Amino acid sequence: MLSFTTSYKIEYELSALIFLAIIISRYFGARRFPNQKNHIFAFILWTTALDMILDIVSSFVIDNALAIPEFVTYAINTAFYALQILLPVLMTMYALVLSRYISKASIPRLIPIFIPSAVALLALLANPLTKWFFYVDSALGYMHGSGFISLYITLLIYIIATFVIAYANRKRMQKAEFGTICKFLLIVFISVAAQFMYPKILVSGVAIAVAVILMYFTIQNPDSMVDSATGAFTYEAMQTFLSDRAQARDMIQLVAIKINNIPRINELLGISNGTLLLRQLCGLLRESAANSWVFRMRGGCFVAITNSADDYHKLRDCLEKRAPEAWVIGGVDVLLQATICCAAINELLPEPPSPEETINYLETVFIQNERAESRIKTVTIGRELLDKIRRKTAVESALRKALESGEGLELHFQPIYSVKEKRFESAEALLRFRHPSLGSIPPSEFVPIAESSGFVTAMDEFVIRRACEFIRSCGDLRNLGLKTLQINISALEFMQRRLPEMIDEITAQYRVNPASLCFEITETAATESYELLRECMQDIRKTGCRFALDDFGTGYANISQVIQLPFSMVKLDRSLLGGPDIVVEDLAHMFRHMDCLTVIEGVETKEQVDLTTQIDIEYIQGFYYARPMPAKDFTAFLKASGEQAG
Ligand code: C2E
Ligand code: MG
Ligand code: MG
Repeated sequence: MLSFTTSYKIEYELSALIFLAIIISRYFGARRFPNQKNHIFAFILWTTALDMILDIVSSFVIDNALAIPEFVTYAINTAFYALQILLPVLMTMYALVLSRYISKASIPRLIPIFIPSAVALLALLANPLTKWFFYVDSALGYMHGSGFISLYITLLIYIIATFVIAYANRKRMQKAEFGTICKFLLIVFISVAAQFMYPKILVSGVAIAVAVILMYFTIQNPDSMVDSATGAFTYEAMQTFLSDRAQARDMIQLVAIKINNIPRINELLGISNGTLLLRQLCGLLRESAANSWVFRMRGGCFVAITNSADDYHKLRDCLEKRAPEAWVIGGVDVLLQATICCAAINELLPEPPSPEETINYLETVFIQNERAESRIKTVTIGRELLDKIRRKTAVESALRKALESGEGLELHFQPIYSVKEKRFESAEALLRFRHPSLGSIPPSEFVPIAESSGFVTAMDEFVIRRACEFIRSCGDLRNLGLKTLQINISALEFMQRRLPEMIDEITAQYRVNPASLCFEITETAATESYELLRECMQDIRKTGCRFALDDFGTGYANISQVIQLPFSMVKLDRSLLGGPDIVVEDLAHMFRHMDCLTVIEGVETKEQVDLTTQIDIEYIQGFYYARPMPAKDFTAFLKASGEQAG
């Protein structure tokens, strides 16, 4: 007689199945990108659901084995046990993917992992003949065979293998990933042990469903990958995506846009309108190419990645056409100032770049074009730019190392001539960097790199230290006939308030009189961080150090603002020498009225010297007198020039 009840307790399994169905609908309802991790998780979800359904169906089939055709019992149970073998294999593969192990190249090495499951599956397929796993007895109905235990053994093998893989590679995984795998394995292990002891209560499916739901909430929730403000995928998602593509050696092409005037738009129209604009922009990117993924890298910066050449051109054309037009936000027409960066990166490189490298390319293009003259600037990353960026990265890492070890870095000194005293009264310390393979790198190259990479503070500290060390080695600057040593410091230094403290500490350590130091700050820097600079300069002035305004005439300084800063010296940039004499003359007059000493930089010829002496400038610095030179040559030079004057 066919019965619609079962002796198994299936209620737990049924309710777990409902939860699993909710998770499945949420997971597949959200936008996911097709990386290996998501593919395997999707497979795990479906396999778990099917496994649970088959578990319930098989409990009816087992109870009715004598009433239904034998082949149905065999088919349903074989399918169910096959999934029981497949699930742990999927879990092991998931751990391998999280460990960044699976790539086309690594597949042959991974074959041994599949052997136990393949053997178990073959044995299962042969079961109707061997009756090794189960069979239908004409009197007793469904019976387990002598080999049934091997299902549990296979499962145990994969639980152990997954744990070993996860543990060995835990450093390559995120913390939450390793933790979730461990919890998953523990839940499955306990439930299978319980199932073994109490076969009539269906709990193994429940446990797997619980473990999968746990995975969903901790490491597979697609919502955590989406930026809720704009609907784009997050920066973290982009890193994972790029790393998966690099691993799979996939061809990627990207089109990115950075809105440079987003802070201004937020200021004028409010953050919510600014966000609305970003959402529109993201929508445009998402709609213009079906086969692409759009990420928000940060603030007003989006990156669309595709592996189709067709979509790459679509994205590029669409942005180039739409970005320059007005965007209507909150009833107002807004014009964007933006940089568009396009790159078929993998076409340019023999090896797929790491995510960090790709992000570095984008960042560099965006930083370089932040103040581009055209409102919308499109940059296509080509071979030349790529080489430049690679050089920048190489210099950055070389400089970082050099600052730690001190190797390759040396201070040079360029004397500054006093017109009135007719002798050298001060000097400027200029850093030189020589690298064994990169050669000699000029400050015009390494200073901006140090500034954009966040270690300019370390560089400035290094220079101040070496400068004080030099002064100490002479006993006192006066022994060289000098009053001050000029030291360049970066504007960024003033963003952090440690500078006064650092100067105190270093001058005390080398027993250097702070009055013998004069810090040079460039004109652009003085305008950019005005308030911070003023407070910090006032603090430092109290110690006796002085300040010079460097490269005057190169930036667009707000003179009325800059003159309120406590500068005791202004250095007129050498570019002023190329202009009408009256400009230099008037500037010199103006600064004299303000009690500021003036220096003219970059004097190379006798004519220029004559001109500057006529217009009453106090100091001259330039190749005409001397080039910057190492400490030893510099002291010898001063000695010789002192003797000559004497
Ligand atoms: P700066 O502070 O204006 O330094 C003067 C620059 O002009 C030096 O270039 C110097 O070699 C060069 N110079 C001097 N006289 C002449 C001349 O007659 N003709 C020409 N054509 N050039 C002359 P350098 O050493 O290449 O430094 C370039 C810039 O890099 C410096 O401009 C300064 O802004 C920065 N820099 C150099 N050393 C340091 C440092 O230790 N720390 C920081 N933060 N910046 C530095
Ligand atoms: Mg200078
Ligand atoms: Mg200068």
